[in-house]
Amino acid sequence: MRIGIVGGAGRMGQMLIREVLGSKGATLAGATERPGNPALGRDLGTLVGLEPAGVVLTDDAAALFAAADAVIDFTAPAATLAHADLAVAHGTALIVGTTGLSADDHARLAQATVKTPLVVSANFSLGVTLLAGLVRKVAATLGPDWDIEIVEMHHKHKVDAPSGTALALGRAAADGRGVDLAAVKDAVRDGHTGARKPGDIGFATLRGGDVVGDHTVMFATEAERLELSHKAGSRAIFARGAVRAALWVAGKPAGLYSMDDVLGL
Ligand code: NAD
Repeated sequence: MRIGIVGGAGRMGQMLIREVLGSKGATLAGATERPGNPALGRDLGTLVGLEPAGVVLTDDAAALFAAADAVIDFTAPAATLAHADLAVAHGTALIVGTTGLSADDHARLAQATVKTPLVVSANFSLGVTLLAGLVRKVAATLGPDWDIEIVEMHHKHKVDAPSGTALALGRAAADGRGVDLAAVKDAVRDGHTGARKPGDIGFATLRGGDVVGDHTVMFATEAERLELSHKAGSRAIFARGAVRAALWVAGKPAGLYSMDDVLGL
């Protein structure tokens, strides 16, 4: 399985290169960065603190898609859409970890899945994939008198809020209740907000330090509160899940897949 990495000099990109180099059954097909990135031309092994890999970082995404069976993309929304076009053009599978995608962006990715397989997840960790399933079940079981609030914390460099994972957990809770998240989402509270609207799903965002990703979903009613939490200790868990998805997607028909599919849940 030849796996390519786009955004190879990024925080996740470097983790992904390391993970592919250490994975049985996977070969590193190459990695790209934006034109002008200072790491262009560097050996991918030494770039991530390992032995030389004999493959260098380039800005030629088309060549990477031509050379790879699957490409893993943890970059930025505009780049991910361009990569989806290349995945279609070359029949390459695409694993998308980029967050902050709009509804339109998701619709563009869905178009690509008519031609080639895509695995899209806001969180590639095993724990969060299981957490989303639990949240869906708990939300379906508890009545509307239970208020749902989602709290997340990430490192100070994160540019989108609430996190893609918090939104995915919100969608899982809304699914469980049989409602559309967009209709009940309350992500900004400041000043005189009035009382909480029944049925809303609230979000609170914390940013600071080097926190990899903490998420808690709270279910609160009179005199009782249930909290389901996940804490990520290292970005390696996302890289591990994404490489597992790349190995799993080999030979799958065109279509949109999730981490639930990869884990057989
Ligand atoms: P980062 O800024 O460190 O890395 C992104 C990299 O992409 C940068 O090096 C940038 O130069 C590169 N890039 C941008 N446009 C490009 C293009 N056209 N071609 C090639 N490279 C390009 O960010 P990060 O912390 O690694 O996170 C990247 C994304 O992954 C974010 O959206 C983040 O929220 C998401 N993320 C998802 C998960 C998950 O499990 N789904 C986990 C962690 C991070």
